Amino acid sequence: MSEHTFNPTRRKLMQGIGVTGLAAVAAPSFAGDRYAKDVQWHQSHDFVIIGSGFAALAAAIEAKRKGIQSVAIYEQMPTFGGNSSINGGLFAVPGSPMQKQEGVKDSVDRMVDDQLKSGRGIADEALLRHVAEHANEALQMTLDAGAEYLPYLQQLGGHSAPRTYQTTVACGAGITQPLYKEAVQLGVEMHSRCRMSGFIRGDQGEVLGVTVETRYYADRKVSEGETLAIRANKAVLVATGGFSQNINLRMAQDPTLTADVGCTNIKGATGEAMLEMFRLGAVPVHMAHIQSGPWASPDEGGFGYVSNYSIYNFPHSMAINRMTGKRFMNEIADRKTRADAQLANRDAQGNPVPPLMITHYHDADKHPNCQKVLKYGVGWKFDTLEALAKHFDVPLAPLKAQIEQYNGYVKSGVDEQFGKPMAKAKDKYIKAPYMVVRLWPKVHYCQGGVKINQLAQVEDSLTGQPIKGLLAAGEVAGGIHGVSRLGSCSIPECMVMGITAARTVAAGKA
Ligand SMILES: Cc1cc2nc3c(=O)[nH]c(=O)nc-3n(C[C@H](O)[C@H](O)[C@H](O)COP(=O)(O)OP(=O)(O)OC[C@H]3O[C@@H](n4cnc5c(N)ncnc54)[C@H](O)[C@@H]3O)c2cc1C
Repeated sequence: MSEHTFNPTRRKLMQGIGVTGLAAVAAPSFAGDRYAKDVQWHQSHDFVIIGSGFAALAAAIEAKRKGIQSVAIYEQMPTFGGNSSINGGLFAVPGSPMQKQEGVKDSVDRMVDDQLKSGRGIADEALLRHVAEHANEALQMTLDAGAEYLPYLQQLGGHSAPRTYQTTVACGAGITQPLYKEAVQLGVEMHSRCRMSGFIRGDQGEVLGVTVETRYYADRKVSEGETLAIRANKAVLVATGGFSQNINLRMAQDPTLTADVGCTNIKGATGEAMLEMFRLGAVPVHMAHIQSGPWASPDEGGFGYVSNYSIYNFPHSMAINRMTGKRFMNEIADRKTRADAQLANRDAQGNPVPPLMITHYHDADKHPNCQKVLKYGVGWKFDTLEALAKHFDVPLAPLKAQIEQYNGYVKSGVDEQFGKPMAKAKDKYIKAPYMVVRLWPKVHYCQGGVKINQLAQVEDSLTGQPIKGLLAAGEVAGGIHGVSRLGSCSIPECMVMGITAARTVAAGKA
């Protein structure tokens, strides 16, 4: 087959297991950028922040702490927090206090090395290092605000050490809610249902403010209020997250990511503010690298209960191909490696056959989601292997042989099949009773976005210079992680780059 031959199986690759069945999201008509000489300002603040996830909240708090007087957040949704508030609450920090307690050896270099591997040669090493170096400060900001974490660390796929904290509520709201309260206490102005619809620029092309549509209803994509011109005396920070829910845009990058493919994100993750920055001249980077989460279940919508359950259980579980009864991947490889391996689980006609993750029930049950997974019928418990094989139509003899072989690796501590690190599987044999969930990847995270530098400044594609008055942080910024972000590395990135943006403003460098 020539390089340019259309390959129908690739088109079908992600299809066939649609959970969300979303209609394509049409890009709303944006006001585009305007020039300040035509504008009558309605409101004015020193620091105007668009969005209200980790990046925005961290920036707002740090700005106030640095003495910036007037800080305002504009959020298009009726509630604050964005994807950050529904996320898994998993937060990677190298050299953290809990690593010291648990005697885990780790370092900034080691975390950056892990991320560079997963980034497959195109990650931004300087930005990754900047984030890793400041991750402890970001963690401390959440602790100071009252966030609470489980008393143990997790080792996620592609990480060479246990370095991931998780909120006690196993959800990002365990961080965004305390940060929101802290921001309000510090005097940050919060505006919901306010959608930023364009930039307002000065004579030299610098960003002086934004237009905001008030009383915005994201579900209907209409504004029932007025369009306000908001002056930003020092800078505008765009912290509007990724575009995983923009079907047209993601299909323009990868035609296999159709509306049928499940997605873990909130509906507001459509990326128009990023497109506005491209219109200003920002550099688009790595837009085609859209990550699918290899821990998601085809049996529930969005992130659901299974995702966090399987993230916790992968290190001591076995994932098998239903048709062969055999393993097909290192269960804690990086996300792209696992998602690609899962997507190859197909019948002779190319239809998806979601693989199974098998765990000893009493190990699985240590995760708070285990009972929810059972309660909502998205996971199954079996007393015997025969019952499991019958239920999922898995050939019993090869399955039995695979379990024996895998248990040998648990005993020896060496996975001879796929090289999975077995430290976290120690003494955790696959045995009755069994717990099973089905796996199929869902669109989860955009590695692409606008190019930023270590001051969170947005670079202009023609001049290579920062666009004056404009900063970006969080998932809207691209290129940091390269081909594939490691799990739990977005929270530190969003928070550190939000904090960095505030420091850039405070230093008069925006
Ligand atoms: C289900 C799920 C689980 C995840 N779990 C983890 C995890 O455990 N650990 C981890 O590190 N990462 C995780 N991630 C990734 C991580 O949560 C996101 O990358 C991160 O939350 C992005 O934060 P942000 O601050 O960039 O933007 P967001 O939190 O996405 O917030 C952006 C906000 O901007 C608003 N907005 C957009 N456009 C406009 C506009 N024009 N005007 C006004 N407002 C606008 C949006 O409504 C939204 O509220 C997860 C993601 C998802 C979806």
